[in-house]
Amino acid sequence: MARYTGNKCKLCRREGMKLFLKGQRCFIEKCALSRRDYPPGVHAHRRSKITDYGLHLREKQKLKRIYGVLERQFRLYFKEAERMKGNTGANLLALLERRLDNVVLASGFAYSRNHARQLVNHGHFRVNGRRVDIASFRVRPGDELTLGPKENTKKLVTDAAEINKSQSVPEWLEVSKETLVSKVVALPKRENIPHPIQEQLVVEICSK
Ligand code: SF4
Repeated sequence: MARYTGNKCKLCRREGMKLFLKGQRCFIEKCALSRRDYPPGVHAHRRSKITDYGLHLREKQKLKRIYGVLERQFRLYFKEAERMKGNTGANLLALLERRLDNVVLASGFAYSRNHARQLVNHGHFRVNGRRVDIASFRVRPGDELTLGPKENTKKLVTDAAEINKSQSVPEWLEVSKETLVSKVVALPKRENIPHPIQEQLVVEICSK
């Protein structure tokens, strides 16, 4: 599946908030948003007041960019969220949260979302003992994520887990930092998802 390969810090500056796309760098003073807290581009300071449509659009873009999902795939997630029972916005967030690359990141096994995606694509993980190398693979309660047998896998994941050791793990996952096993114990609820997204705005713009 295609992905954005451009400058990630520009995305944060465009959205005016930290999207945490670069791992540890996002937490130190080197973060581009801390140093240049204005949108990218030469005419950044001349931009006019944001419209109602613009507000909705920005919220959708934030969500896509946080999870590294492009428009086509995002639309599919939205359609599926609409078909599900319950609140469409919460369903949409839960579907995105259940992506395998997100589970790797939330478990503390990768430095950043891109790193998580690369680890998955290179076949470093097993789900219930089976090799899965699709970043969008959707986990279910009861699934167990373990490391594959590749020589360098343990080192790659241990190094990331060490750096992320103070990171809290969402309630719907149970992670053993010793054995590097992550278990999905429930479906993610809205309150377990930390991103400051107004999902209702996303639903409104996608429903048009
Ligand atoms: Fe965004 Fe991280 Fe870059 Fe800061 S360092 S602008 S949070 S991607």
